[in-house]
Amino acid sequence: MAGRNFLFVPGPTNVPDRILRAMMVAMQDHRSPAFPEFARSIFPPLKRLFQSSRGEAFIFPATGTGAWEAALANTLSPGDRVLAPRFGQFSHLWIDMMQRFGLDVEVIDVEWGAGAPEERIAAALAADRDHRVKGVMVVHNETATGVTSDIAAVRRAMDDARHPALLYVDAVSSLGSIDFRFDEWGVDLAITGSQKGLMMPAGLGIVCASPRVLEAERTARLPRVFFSFADMRRSNAEGYFPYTPALPLLHGLRESLSMLFEEGLPEVFARHARLAGGVREAVKAWGLASCCRAARWQSNTVTAVVVPPHVNAQSVIETAFRRYDLALGAGLSRLAGKVFRIGHLGDLNELMLLGALGGVEMAMHDCGIEVAAGSGVAAAQAVWRGERTAAEAVPLAA
Ligand code: PLP
Repeated sequence: MAGRNFLFVPGPTNVPDRILRAMMVAMQDHRSPAFPEFARSIFPPLKRLFQSSRGEAFIFPATGTGAWEAALANTLSPGDRVLAPRFGQFSHLWIDMMQRFGLDVEVIDVEWGAGAPEERIAAALAADRDHRVKGVMVVHNETATGVTSDIAAVRRAMDDARHPALLYVDAVSSLGSIDFRFDEWGVDLAITGSQKGLMMPAGLGIVCASPRVLEAERTARLPRVFFSFADMRRSNAEGYFPYTPALPLLHGLRESLSMLFEEGLPEVFARHARLAGGVREAVKAWGLASCCRAARWQSNTVTAVVVPPHVNAQSVIETAFRRYDLALGAGLSRLAGKVFRIGHLGDLNELMLLGALGGVEMAMHDCGIEVAAGSGVAAAQAVWRGERTAAEAVPLAA
């Protein structure tokens, strides 16, 4: 098809030309005396992105899943108890990984569309008087449902219970798009991947670790080789990596961080909030509901739109792709066929999103969902032109 593909899945996101150009590099000797200067230039801005001065950043040639594994393998032992709310496909998959590692996972099941339940976490920790729980594991932005949990509130719940567990946070679809405060929220391990807010291809699994992690590493007995923090730390201290780094991706990461800080983190977060506000108004104008159950959890990076029961959401996704070259996110696992997801994160502005909303309207219409042509587009325009304040809430799924 002529023209650009409209990529509106919630990751991978559009890679800006600046980053594409930065990644077009000749290979270089990663053991050369010149390499450390380049490698060392990446870590300070990377820590700033996590809003951390006390943390330690690690970059693995992996994806978000690899970063999940790194966080677990370096800090826990088989049989260790961890507490994990499950409210979407990604929290589910992380829990599955914990179980496959032989951890004793206390799962707090919550309906999909809700966020991490602070009160239930507090109650579980209060009941754990002999402090068997070693970690609380929360997905900050559940990409499957479009739900952002309140990590500061989870930290408060842990502090109120005076519980020493480490706080592990999946920031894969929030970091670089939604405010994420590693130090202030007392996060101990945060992980992300390169293909979402960082606007890059997949290929880097990134971890930020608090000083308490060092202590946990000393006693942790899960095996780790490729993902060893200790090996990585030793090489990074000299400005190198323990194995061949993904050089173009490191160049891309450095450019991505430059772009984010040129725009300014508060401005990046505000842009995502503004764009998300327009999308929510569009959903409202279509007379549809979002999967997210409450206004406080609405994600600024992804909206999962619930289709009417007589329609299979997959047909909307396929029509959008085949007819209009618009890629939307599918409903995952138990949400398959029930929702389609609009990713609104990364290198994105109002006009790009208006195009996507127009394509969604056409695809929905083609699939028998009665929406007035232009209704969502007009509602989003009204928000972005400043005529209307985005309502706090979209209609919530019944
Ligand atoms: N966690 C969240 C919240 C995600 O959205 C994803 C992927 O979309 C992952 C983890 C897994 O990351 P990856 O696909 O990079 O392994």
